[in-house]
Parts: sequence; structure tokens; C-alpha cells
Amino acid sequence: MTLYDVAIVGAGPAGLTAGIYTGRSLLKTVIIEKGPAGGLMALTDKLDNWPGLPGVEGGELSEIMLKQAESFGCELKIGDVAEINKDADGFFTVALSHDEGIRAKAVIYASGSTPRKIGVKGEMEFIGRGVSYCAVCDAAFYRNLRVAVVGGGDSAIKEALYLTKFAKEVVIIHRRQGFRAEKITMEEAHKNEKISFMTDAIVEEIAGTQFVEKLQIKNVKTNEVTEHPFDGAFIFVGYDPQVEPIKHFVTLTEQNFIVADSHMKTNIEGLFAAGDIVDKLIRQVATAVGDGATAGTATEHYIAALGQS
Ligand code: NAP
Repeated sequence: MTLYDVAIVGAGPAGLTAGIYTGRSLLKTVIIEKGPAGGLMALTDKLDNWPGLPGVEGGELSEIMLKQAESFGCELKIGDVAEINKDADGFFTVALSHDEGIRAKAVIYASGSTPRKIGVKGEMEFIGRGVSYCAVCDAAFYRNLRVAVVGGGDSAIKEALYLTKFAKEVVIIHRRQGFRAEKITMEEAHKNEKISFMTDAIVEEIAGTQFVEKLQIKNVKTNEVTEHPFDGAFIFVGYDPQVEPIKHFVTLTEQNFIVADSHMKTNIEGLFAAGDIVDKLIRQVATAVGDGATAGTATEHYIAALGQS
């Protein structure tokens, strides 16, 4: 098994930034990623709150960050991390699903999160046939169609706005009256003529034949269930952290986010965490990048101390 100084799990903004820092410190770094580089950032249309480059496309920023990490010597390895363990010699083994894996002196875990499901009848059955978790990926299939967006956070409202470029009507279905999304985004949505809102409402069932045709929607105040025609349902009800490979030894919150200190250290010496996976106030590209820079620098210090012991 190849021994690296640092194994970074996840090539989102946190992992790529960590790689830029460890690469610049001349540490032999591998970044392991199972999907496209950039993570959720790569699936984001435009970033309005990325300082210095307002409106930059998520895919473009991902490519630039990847090239920058590679230019400092980071190796990108495609693979699905199955389990991470700390061995008797103090180094880590990162086991992959379809590969013998690698060893590393330190690990930066920045694997991000996956879209949460609403868990209703029809949701799994119609994935790719009307049910989607990514507007940037699938919106173009809904040209001149009527779609539902489920959720009331920044993701739901931003993705609903993106969908209006294609769909003829976008209905945001949210389980209460108040929205978590930023005020400025809500204002934009309220001004958009293609967007309407159904509040105090939850989806009870997604139905159709080949593709999604209708949703059963329950008003949570009256308990009345009604049927509404829709060509698609885009679901944005939050993201679950991907902690399977480390949950046997890393301290997590009740919601499965990693507990890390201000240096991005976890309870395991030599294992650092960065990005959306960490328990923190906001999960944005700007904060992921900050975590990555801190984790990269803390890792450099950790490895330097190993050399002196
Ligand atoms: P979120 O902020 O956790 O919002 C999830 C939304 O889904 C909430 O409105 C929640 O309702 C609703 N929800 C949760 N479970 C549900 C269920 N089972 N059925 C129906 N509705 C359900 O998640 P997010 O919007 O994905 O955002 C995640 C993080 O990324 C946040 O920190 C957000 O600010 C950030 N983000 C930022 C931007 C940006 O451009 N600034 C863009 C995207 C995401 P309740 O409100 O009732 O709990």
C-alpha cells in the first residue's frame, strides 16, 4: 500500500483547499473522491456570496480549485472510502471499496454530505424519472413543465430560482410558514412570476406511471390531503453527513456531524475534519475553504511534530 503524508477524503472546496495547503507544504498528498471534483459546489449554478467573484459558476470554481491543488502536487484518486482506521504504528489505513486503499500519516476528512430523502411513497421509485435532488443537473429536462420544489432553506429557494429558467411554473412546498433561506433570496423568489408557494404543506406521495404525474399534498394545519398535477419534484430538505467510514471511532453530534475544535482536530490524533461534515453554524463554500486552510495547516504542524518524536 502506498504511504502518503496526508490522505484527504473528499474533493469539495474544503478538501481541495486543504490539499492546496498541504501541497504547498511539500507533503505527499492524495485526495480521494468518488464523484466529480468540487462536490456540491460543482452542482451549484452560480455563487453570489463567494467573495471577489460574485456570480461565479460552481463548476468553473471547482475546476480552478482542482487545478490549483494539482499544481501543488496533490494526486487525485477516484475511489469510495469504505473505512478508516488508525493502526498500531500511529498511521492510518484508508480502505476503499474496490481497491486495496492507501496508508497515510494524517487524514483530513472532508467528505461532505448527501441529499436527504423525504421518505414518502414513490420517492425512490421515481428518482431519475421526475424526482431529482439537483436542479443544475436536471432542470433542462423540465422546459415548459410544472415542477414542485420541496423545502424552505437556501438550497430549495436557490434551486427553485434556477428552475425558473426552464420550467413554466415552480411551486415551492414547505412544511411551515417561516423560511430558513436568506431574506435576499426569499425576496428574489417572491418577485419571480413563475414561483408560487404552498406553505404548511407536506408531500405524502409521489405518483405517476412512467414519470412523475402528481403529488399528494397534505395541509398540516387542516390535515386535508389534495392531489396536484406536477411533472417533477425537486427535493431539497437538507443533507446528511457522510460519516460511515469514521463513525466507529470519531466523536459525532446527535445529527452525525463531526465534533472538531478550532484547529479542525477531531478526538483522534492525526485525523482532522473540514467542510460541511463538521458541526458548525453555516455550511457554505466560504466556510468550507476556511476549514480546509486550517485543517491543512494543522496537519502540517502535526506531521512536523511526528518527525521530531
Ligand atoms: P436546511 O437549511 O437544513 O433547510 C432544509 C429545509 O428543508 C428546511 O426548510 C426544513 O424545514 C425542510 N425540511 C427538512 N426535512 C424535511 C422533511 N422531512 N419534509 C419537508 N421539509 C423538510 O438545508 P439546505 O437548504 O440544504 O441548506 C444547508 C446549508 O447550506 C445551510 O447552512 C444553508 O444556508 C447552506 N446553503 C447556502 C446557500 C447559499 O447560497 N448561501 C445555498 C445552499 C445552501 P424547517 O425549516 O421547517 O426545518
